Amino acid sequence: MELNEIMALDKQYYMNTFGDRTPVAFEYGKGSTLYDKEGRAYIDFLAGIAVNSLGYAHPALINAIKEQADKFTHCSSLFYIEAQAALAKRLVEHSCGNRVFFCNSGSEANEGAVKLARKYFNRIGMNKYEVISAQNSFHGRTLAMVAATGQEKYQKPYLPLPDGFVNVPYNSLEAVERAITEKTCAVLIEVIQGEGGVIEGSMDYIKGLRQLCDSHGLLLIVDEVQTGIGRTGRFFGYEHYGIEPDVFTLAKGLGGGVPIGAIVARGKAAEVFDPGSHGSTFGGNPLACAAGCAVIDTLTAEGLVEGAEAKGAVFKEGLDKLRAKYPFIVDVRGKGLMLGLELDPSVSGRDIVRSALDKGFIINCAGRNTLRFVPPLVIALDEIKALLDALDEIFADCQKGNA
Ligand code: PLP
Repeated sequence: MELNEIMALDKQYYMNTFGDRTPVAFEYGKGSTLYDKEGRAYIDFLAGIAVNSLGYAHPALINAIKEQADKFTHCSSLFYIEAQAALAKRLVEHSCGNRVFFCNSGSEANEGAVKLARKYFNRIGMNKYEVISAQNSFHGRTLAMVAATGQEKYQKPYLPLPDGFVNVPYNSLEAVERAITEKTCAVLIEVIQGEGGVIEGSMDYIKGLRQLCDSHGLLLIVDEVQTGIGRTGRFFGYEHYGIEPDVFTLAKGLGGGVPIGAIVARGKAAEVFDPGSHGSTFGGNPLACAAGCAVIDTLTAEGLVEGAEAKGAVFKEGLDKLRAKYPFIVDVRGKGLMLGLELDPSVSGRDIVRSALDKGFIINCAGRNTLRFVPPLVIALDEIKALLDALDEIFADCQKGNA
């Protein structure tokens, strides 16, 4: 199908929740590059929004998917599933967690984590159900996760939202402390807000949240949907802060492009879900879990987590140089290969995204006018350098236009 035909079908048949999509349809990808229907190459610094951790057509991922598909793609969790058990073991071995539950998306993982927190107290006869989360956060699109997501634009059309969620300012320990009541069961937090514009939780804040949860007997749930699976230069984002959450959630990069989500729980929290208390038809699906195993094994075999740290440092240094050169760049943030560059309102982030696309680079704009860079972890240093050069040219044009 030609791009025009796809666009016409989409317009007629698909619910438009995405506004004007970028008028590009990809045909295939290799490494960190996507090729569109006309054969044009784009180096991808978005990776399906922090999903395609191994880039495109990685042989390890393709082989794992093919091998599993050759056997069977789905099997009910009423039976034992080899890939499911194998992936759960890998996640536990790489983390502070003790047990895993698989689902299909980040929203579902977070929703399950909230159910786990409520049940944690319910099973000992305590009526604690409130979850404190942050303003400017993003935890997903189910009704409860819209309530947890502290952004009015996602909440307003769906009122009334489920009860039991309180959104307080990010990076303010006092705000969390003030919000704790006898009904509070958990704090749900991103250690780096992704969709909110790559905003890092401060060391004091994240460490303080752990202490607050300990002193009030609350569960600390870390949403690692975007920060997890090597993206920030550690296997999990919480590792940067020297803390261990009671529960953390995963999705995005875990399947390398195959849909999967996971709830990982530690200690007593790992013993909460018992027979009948939670479930999912597709959660822990053999195909998705085989992909997850291949992703984790490849991250380890190819040193991609350490690579994310090292390449991210070079990338950030390059962005910092641009910041020193162009006064309309107000901030550079992030860790590993989860970086953001905030522009002041005189420059439109969306225009920069378009200009980058014209030059053959895929980036996006998140939060408050912040360019977000979340490339595949296999991205090469010369690809990073190429983007930095392209941004330099684009920003130079902006400056001329602004002058
Ligand atoms: N949590 C975080 C931190 C996310 O970035 C996202 C998606 O962007 C989600 C949860 C929701 O994940 P999903 O879209 O897979 O439901």
